[in-house]
Amino acid sequence: MLGLMQDQPLLISSLIDFADRHHGDAEIVSRRVEGDLHRYTWADVARRARQAAHALDGLSLAHGERVATLAWNGYRHLELYFAVSGSGRVLHTINPRLHPEQIAWIANHAEDQVLCFDMSFLPLVQAVHAKCSTIRQYVALCDADKLPADTGIPGLISYEAWIAGKPTTYTWPTFDENTASSMCYTSGTTGNPKAALYSHRSTILHAYAAALPDVMGISARDAILPVVPMFHVNAWGIPYSAALTGAKLVFPGPALDGKSVYELIEAEKVSYAAGVPTVWQMLLTHMKPAGLRFSTLKRTVIGGSACPPAMIAAFNDDYGVEVLHAWGMTEMSPLGTLCTLKNKHLNLPPDAQMQIRLKQGRCIYGVDMKIVGEDGKELPWDGKAFGDLLVKGPWVVREYFKGEGGDPLMYNEAGAGWFPTGDVATIDPDGYMQITDRSKDVIKSGGEWISSIDIENIAVAHPAVAMAACIGVAHPKWDERPILAVVKKPGMNLTRDELIAFYEGKAAKWQVPDDVVFVDAIPLGATGKMLKTKLREMLKDYRLPV
Ligand code: AMP
Repeated sequence: MLGLMQDQPLLISSLIDFADRHHGDAEIVSRRVEGDLHRYTWADVARRARQAAHALDGLSLAHGERVATLAWNGYRHLELYFAVSGSGRVLHTINPRLHPEQIAWIANHAEDQVLCFDMSFLPLVQAVHAKCSTIRQYVALCDADKLPADTGIPGLISYEAWIAGKPTTYTWPTFDENTASSMCYTSGTTGNPKAALYSHRSTILHAYAAALPDVMGISARDAILPVVPMFHVNAWGIPYSAALTGAKLVFPGPALDGKSVYELIEAEKVSYAAGVPTVWQMLLTHMKPAGLRFSTLKRTVIGGSACPPAMIAAFNDDYGVEVLHAWGMTEMSPLGTLCTLKNKHLNLPPDAQMQIRLKQGRCIYGVDMKIVGEDGKELPWDGKAFGDLLVKGPWVVREYFKGEGGDPLMYNEAGAGWFPTGDVATIDPDGYMQITDRSKDVIKSGGEWISSIDIENIAVAHPAVAMAACIGVAHPKWDERPILAVVKKPGMNLTRDELIAFYEGKAAKWQVPDDVVFVDAIPLGATGKMLKTKLREMLKDYRLPV
């Protein structure tokens, strides 16, 4: 017997309709590429998204065709989130930090038909457009009078001219909720990137889950600053969760330095922020010497790479801001786990609470996870055994766009139905997962595994260390030994021996790095993660001290 409830597909258009009708006056504030602040409301987003949907129809784009963006976090990008997916097309957010060759490759692979870009990416588009064989319309996200006369890009039009005069009413189409809505290519640190193709259903379920109190805890009372880019896994789904809760959104545009982010947080009374550790490091580095305080910020979600305990402590103890450590990946829309305490932890001493908080957290309803050993057998949840982390759920990829690059683990008997994350983790008896490494970054020394994340976390707790990356170097006896590449904080002195001595009592002797190499910078990938492949290349002539 079937239930007798209304059968309404979960579609992204319903989010913008809801925000318009029930939170129409909630604000959206954007720092624009032009440098000024733009301010309007959810009702304005909805109205202009409907106009943009008409503009897309005007191009005779079929349902399912891809509309790409190369854009910072801002209001026009937000309008496209709803216009493109809501009208049945697929929003393809491209990461502008990728190499131009890779951008052209991705646009061709996705068979993008339209590319909408911020003016700061005009030189990039000028450099790649001749190689993008499928794009038939270029749209510059700017006012009509800001478009330079001769850009060399055929048919280029400004977004404002494109949507101007279009009707402000639009009937969003209804279709199967499993229809594709947006896509995002993985960082692609090895080989060509692969695309996760999200659906309306997966996006809405993820948006619901992300807003839960034990997840991102988003409400109509929040002013949210997503520093995490809208070109990387839909800014962790925040634009969608904000629409379904009516939260205020504050977009930083391209200005992600500590000073700009701090000023925006204070000026717009941001209560809630989200970003990767490197961004928060810049913010803390700006605030500390100037003795600055937050007056409204209450919580910040930190994820994308391991959040060092020193950062959690700085936010928590020095600024009274709760850190929510999150873990996920492009293939998971992206949220998988988030770290909040359970009731039984509330009376624990601060040190014991910290031990929990620095883990990547527990599963969000909708995601299931397990760890398996090399034989594919499930490992115990004892907080000690570590193995390959597998996940499943309605917002986890089943396969990649165009069926590419599937991992055999997804299909063999032990892994069937589970997505292999490529991360190595422990899970404790309360279900808190802790990433020990990417499987390819684990250091194997004398038959034991050393977690590069643990070693890095200790290093960045040293007051003179700005950034640290730990990699394994071949060793004749132990197979591999860890070494540390370290960027010093400006004006700080630190020697190799001082840093090695700092590990005393913090790590087992055999886990302590054999050497420290001071570098000017650690190579970062397009999403702000440390690129260890590049670092290994940089240090290829390095020899361990005898
Ligand atoms: P991406 O798909 O580019 O977002 O990268 C996903 C990968 O980033 C994951 O598989 C992890 O290796 C890493 N990652 C994300 N969040 C965390 C975290 N909180 N701690 C450690 N690694 C993380």
